[in-house]
Amino acid sequence: MPLLLLRRLLPVVVLLSAALYSREPAIALSTEYQQLLNWLPYATIGIAMLLCINYNHARLFTVSLALLLIYYFIQTELQTSLNEPRTFFTYTIISLLLPLMLFTFLFLPERGMRNRYGVLISTLVPMLFIVAYTIFKMVPEASLVMVMNDYFKIRPFDNYLLSINGSLLYCLVFVVGIYRLCKTNNEYFTALLSVLIFSFITLAFFGLQKISVIMLSFVGVSLIISLMRGAHDMAYRDDLTGLLGRRALNEKLKGLGKRYVLAMADVDHFKSFNDTHGHDVGDEVLKMVARNIATVKGGGTAYRYGGEEFCIVFPGKDIEYSKPFLEAVRLDVEAYRMALRDAEHRPKSKDKAKQRRGRRSKERAGKTVSVTISIGVAAPNEKYLKVDEVLKAADTALYKAKQNGRNCVVTM
Ligand code: GH3
Ligand code: MG
Ligand code: MG
Repeated sequence: MPLLLLRRLLPVVVLLSAALYSREPAIALSTEYQQLLNWLPYATIGIAMLLCINYNHARLFTVSLALLLIYYFIQTELQTSLNEPRTFFTYTIISLLLPLMLFTFLFLPERGMRNRYGVLISTLVPMLFIVAYTIFKMVPEASLVMVMNDYFKIRPFDNYLLSINGSLLYCLVFVVGIYRLCKTNNEYFTALLSVLIFSFITLAFFGLQKISVIMLSFVGVSLIISLMRGAHDMAYRDDLTGLLGRRALNEKLKGLGKRYVLAMADVDHFKSFNDTHGHDVGDEVLKMVARNIATVKGGGTAYRYGGEEFCIVFPGKDIEYSKPFLEAVRLDVEAYRMALRDAEHRPKSKDKAKQRRGRRSKERAGKTVSVTISIGVAAPNEKYLKVDEVLKAADTALYKAKQNGRNCVVTM
């Protein structure tokens, strides 16, 4: 888990450090360059939006559009002191709506841009900002001051402008975002977290010179990086299990040296498992098996080879070393009990459903399923020199494991 977070969030941390570091040089720039710099957030966020269109990514497109609008509001409305009621209110509206929007987006499914849903969310969210802004413009100043004093005025430190309520809201969204990222290992959540972190710094230290220009320029860069990493994942990772896929394996195989171990793992009797429990439960079990195989120790990396077959690569290792780690994986899968949820077993026809409902839910309460895997292992030797020969040998070993009664590890 910490490794996953490091891998996903390292670029954000690097960009954040670069942003903080580049604020001072930015302040030292001449007026003409400063004016040019003011356009930078539009450029970086604009490029991110173009990539979103290219990748058909409605959610990040909408978030980027909202960021552009916020930057526009900052440039046009927030250039006076925060002691001015209206300025402070615009600031407050942003520090409330932005984390709330990000929180919503942590749970919104992606359905692409080129359909009604995509058009709806990418217009609704900016509209929300504009409506909120218009309403606040119409509210009399006296009532603004009252609301602010009640909810948004208490700030914990000097020079830290975000209210306690705003800070707590940011913390909550951050924790949920980290949880979602760990659960899914999806780069989308890195993108949302980077928007959250950069906007937090902007709002919390809003009094610092050039903070919004720098932070929003860099958040654009961060979004671009996340979109590229997401595209890389799409090409190299398997959608169902989140493991690296066949393409990544092929590249890995090309770069292996003389010493390595290849293991092929295959779920036992999976066809009949699917027939008994349905394809959806089969998919859930496959994800469970993948999660277990992915935790393989001893320097092994797991790939989904295809269907219910997985390949584990141990670079620079020999069979004797790798075998105990493969045994451990086999035992983990064998021991794992997956609870059945009733929804996964709904019979196809409504009549059948009625007939079975009472009986089924009783049967299913607390019912679990489990599967086993067989593993074939091979390494290069005098007989098998080339990597595809070794792969074939691992496959033959797997076949022998099946013949030996399954749920075992066989080496060549
Ligand atoms: P064996 O122990 O000999 O491996 O028996 P098996 O039934 O697992 O044999 P086989 O490898 O021929 O069966 C593979 C089955 O795996 C066929 C297919 O129904 C199922 N399968 C492959 N990919 C998926 C998938 O992505 N999801 C689900 N649910 N099932 C899959
Ligand atoms: Mg198979
Ligand atoms: Mg099988």
